[in-house]
Amino acid sequence: MTNPLLAPWDTPFDLPPFDRISDEDYAPALEEALAAHNAEIAAIVAQEAAPDFENTIAALEASGEALDRVLSPFFALAGADATPRRQELQREFSPKLAKHFAEISANPDLYARVRAVWDKRDELGLDDQDARQLFLVHRGYVRAGAALTGAEADRMKAIKERLAVLGTSFTQNLLKDEADWSMDLAEADLEGLPEFLVDAARAAGEEKGRPGPVITLSRSLIVPFLQFSPRRELREKAWKAWVSRGAFGGETDNRAIAAEVLALREERAKLLGYENFARYKLDTEMAGEPAAVRALLMDVWEPAKRQALADQDVLSAMAAEDGVNGPIEGWDWRYYAEKRRKEEHDLDEAALKPYFQLDKMIAAAFDCANRLFGLEFSELDMTSYHPDVRVFEVTRDGKHVAIFLGDYFARGTKRSGAWCSAIRSQAVRPREQTPVVVNVCNFAKPPKGRVALLSYDDARTLFHEFGHALHQMLSDVRWEGVSGTSVARDFVELPSQLFEHWLEVPEVLQKFATHAETGEPMPKAMLDKVLGAANFDMGFQTVEYVASALIDLEFHDGAAPTDPMARQAEVLEKLGMPSAIPMRHATPQFAHVFSGDGYSSGYYSYMWSEVMDADAFAAFEEAGGAFDPEVAASLEENILSKGGSVEAAELYERFRGRLPGVEALLKGRGLVA
Ligand SMILES: [Zn+2]
Repeated sequence: MTNPLLAPWDTPFDLPPFDRISDEDYAPALEEALAAHNAEIAAIVAQEAAPDFENTIAALEASGEALDRVLSPFFALAGADATPRRQELQREFSPKLAKHFAEISANPDLYARVRAVWDKRDELGLDDQDARQLFLVHRGYVRAGAALTGAEADRMKAIKERLAVLGTSFTQNLLKDEADWSMDLAEADLEGLPEFLVDAARAAGEEKGRPGPVITLSRSLIVPFLQFSPRRELREKAWKAWVSRGAFGGETDNRAIAAEVLALREERAKLLGYENFARYKLDTEMAGEPAAVRALLMDVWEPAKRQALADQDVLSAMAAEDGVNGPIEGWDWRYYAEKRRKEEHDLDEAALKPYFQLDKMIAAAFDCANRLFGLEFSELDMTSYHPDVRVFEVTRDGKHVAIFLGDYFARGTKRSGAWCSAIRSQAVRPREQTPVVVNVCNFAKPPKGRVALLSYDDARTLFHEFGHALHQMLSDVRWEGVSGTSVARDFVELPSQLFEHWLEVPEVLQKFATHAETGEPMPKAMLDKVLGAANFDMGFQTVEYVASALIDLEFHDGAAPTDPMARQAEVLEKLGMPSAIPMRHATPQFAHVFSGDGYSSGYYSYMWSEVMDADAFAAFEEAGGAFDPEVAASLEENILSKGGSVEAAELYERFRGRLPGVEALLKGRGLVA
């Protein structure tokens, strides 16, 4: 029998036939698909005809179709329904895939053809979309080191391999430090701790085989402990261990690894012709260069620091009443901030929850998409990869636009967090296809017969992921490689963070945040409290984040420091870092930057996106309000439909008439009046 992954699917909307695919189909299908891809690549290379756009660039894009058919359903399951068997398959597949793609990007004959097309780009008469495709394909090869030869090529390979080893060690050391450290609590030490934390501490004690409850360095235990424990000496002990993860000395110490990683990255950037790693990394981002990132972060730094220092005075005065002399310390901040939060923004979570029904929040997101972009959603009586997944057809003016899958409930086989992925992306080439987009969340599933309720944060998450889904569904580009969310890292969170703003629009909450039992809309006073609490302790949060982002930038923009810890201390000193606020991630714990390349020289991108989303939403407010049709049309035309087919900065300027400024962000975070 033919493998169902590789046979024609013959399903409505050509959706993967999950009901016909068994886990045992994936491995043989993958082998077949990898072999097919290799054969396609070999055929491109073996052509007699001189390299041109169609026989090389377009042919390359068309290759690997079978691989896509195997991997897109597989990765959907690997994230959202990862049974032990599927995890095992994933461990088997990842090194295989890494090797497969590394070999393609290091294939000298293939690169020679790509290079030949690139060199005669001006004579090809390509239109904008094809020219962009050629530019991106060529750039991808060059950045992977395909243009290097001889000793340089060997060195690049060695550097990449060493960086992969160091990244894994960094992560594992951190996990080991977090797992090994624990602090036993006597019954008297449980004073002041909320029930959920006591339960979690007892469970952690049992897991570790301790006689009683313990606090470990897991964020879900240590942060609430620092928030709630009135025992200052215990807070100090726990806090000091927490901020020293990865720097305990001995075998798990990450400091030497950090220095080696930074040196290797600098060497790699120089091999590729860049002055330093930050310039290499930012070259493909919207920010473009280190100076732009530094300017943004410093614009935010001063107002954030001012706010944090003012908050520090308030908290120090509260601590003085408890007999603490002088300014508060790092282990005091969260404890007094929690006390202050209770006094100023007492939000009764239990009273709030019935107003955020899952079904109503889904309806709210759909309604906003309808008012802004004319999209309509109808639920289909269809099953997907799990019985909890809901399937919707998305249309506009009666025409099919996309399939949207909503996978909202937590389960043991789903990884934590929330995400949006495309099982199929919109494209005209290499094949004409409409998108199949999935939003995956981890909301608590209600007992049978009860309505699913969300927290306010959950509702934000739902809107956030739906914003990514819109970016996929409204995509209207030629090439699949630049479809939807295939954009620069510092641009990809704009549509998602922007869409969160509609949850805060009073008329949206008025209509959809209704009480599960009474059906009454949320009272205005409660709504104001929810929105007010969102900015609480923003000085602290902004300072700890910006400090980490600036250290990340300084490490990579210039010669790699031989002693990163000394460099970190020097930069913080120059910034005037408030003494009671640690970096969100100090160097030995900074997994974003040292576990892999994803966020190295890129930790700023969260804030870069936030600057844009605040500024972009202001465009609606300055026009006719949150549903202004002209601004919505321009958002779709210039940003949501364009994917990565045009440079991000260019897209933003077309939408806003200028690049974004930080004013709207500072206002949104409550850091300026
Ligand atoms: Zn996101």
